[in-house]
Amino acid sequence: MFHFTPKKEEKKESSCSTQTESDGDNCCTPQPKGKVACPHCQEKAKGVLAKTVKALVTEKLKSKLSCFDGFYYCKTSTCKVVYFRNDEILTQADLSVVVGLKEGATPATVCYCFEWSKEKIRAQLQAKGETNALEDIKAKMENPGCSCEVLNPSGGCCLGDVAKAIKEIKTS
Ligand SMILES: [Zn+2]
Repeated sequence: MFHFTPKKEEKKESSCSTQTESDGDNCCTPQPKGKVACPHCQEKAKGVLAKTVKALVTEKLKSKLSCFDGFYYCKTSTCKVVYFRNDEILTQADLSVVVGLKEGATPATVCYCFEWSKEKIRAQLQAKGETNALEDIKAKMENPGCSCEVLNPSGGCCLGDVAKAIKEIKTS
């Protein structure tokens, strides 16, 4: 006799949801909630969107990864981990952009949309005693708008990092 069990799991919810490419460059898409400790430095790391990782990894890695969901971004400057997902770890070598927040990065980019680096801010401060980095970024966020999600390794707005960098340079 054939015994039929109705399969409830038919609609498999893959943990790797395929994100549509059509969500545009809206700077305000909320980042994944929650924080997870970096396996290397133990600092809490924020989740990043699949499209951020996909946009920034090398072509070689892009062809190897089937899914870009579920990565976290470690912003600790002394930690070599850039992204991690369970025991998968991506470092600078896996990325096509220089992660400016990591120790020794050149250029030490802080704003990826409008190309502000610590070098540029330092040069302005040395020449004029002030920098218009924050004003410039804020103005350009209005027009033409930013694309942090696919340009900035953090996947988010750089203003906090820029403010921190200015403070750091001023007191160094
Ligand atoms: Zn770390």
